Amino acid sequence: MAEAAYDTSNIFAKILRGEIPSHRVHEDDAVVAFMDVMPQGPGHTLVVPKAPSRNLLDADPATLGPLFTVVQKVALAVKKAFSADGVTILQFNEPASGQTVYHLHVHVIPRFDGIALKPHTGQMEKPEVLAENAEKIRAALND
Ligand code: 5GP
Repeated sequence: MAEAAYDTSNIFAKILRGEIPSHRVHEDDAVVAFMDVMPQGPGHTLVVPKAPSRNLLDADPATLGPLFTVVQKVALAVKKAFSADGVTILQFNEPASGQTVYHLHVHVIPRFDGIALKPHTGQMEKPEVLAENAEKIRAALND
């Protein structure tokens, strides 16, 4: 079955256009990274290319290099900022996989020995906690 077309009203398109707020930790010509509002753990960050695509399946391959360059930078930064033991990278494509927002994005989640991830799209985090965590990640990115 053919997949749906890219919808410019998705929540990440609105964040990229600055129509709704986000706690940004990185922005360059091609990529933005900001805090997930329903984190699966402290420091859960989303890395999002500015170029529109629903997900990895319809993405222009040219967007993937810049995207994953930032994924690696953010992974190193969250590991440092939260003194994490590891980092989980997640990326979902279409509803069957668990995708809920239809603009390509990569999850970067700090991990700690023996601590399970919280549920995907579970509880909203307090804005002040997201702001504090974003500041820690920005500091680690600038180190
Ligand atoms: P997906 O299921 O599509 O891979 O992940 C979408 C992610 O976006 C989820 O982890 C969810 O918590 C997060 N999310 C949903 N709405 C918003 C929002 O308005 N702002 C931010 N920053 N994250 C969101």
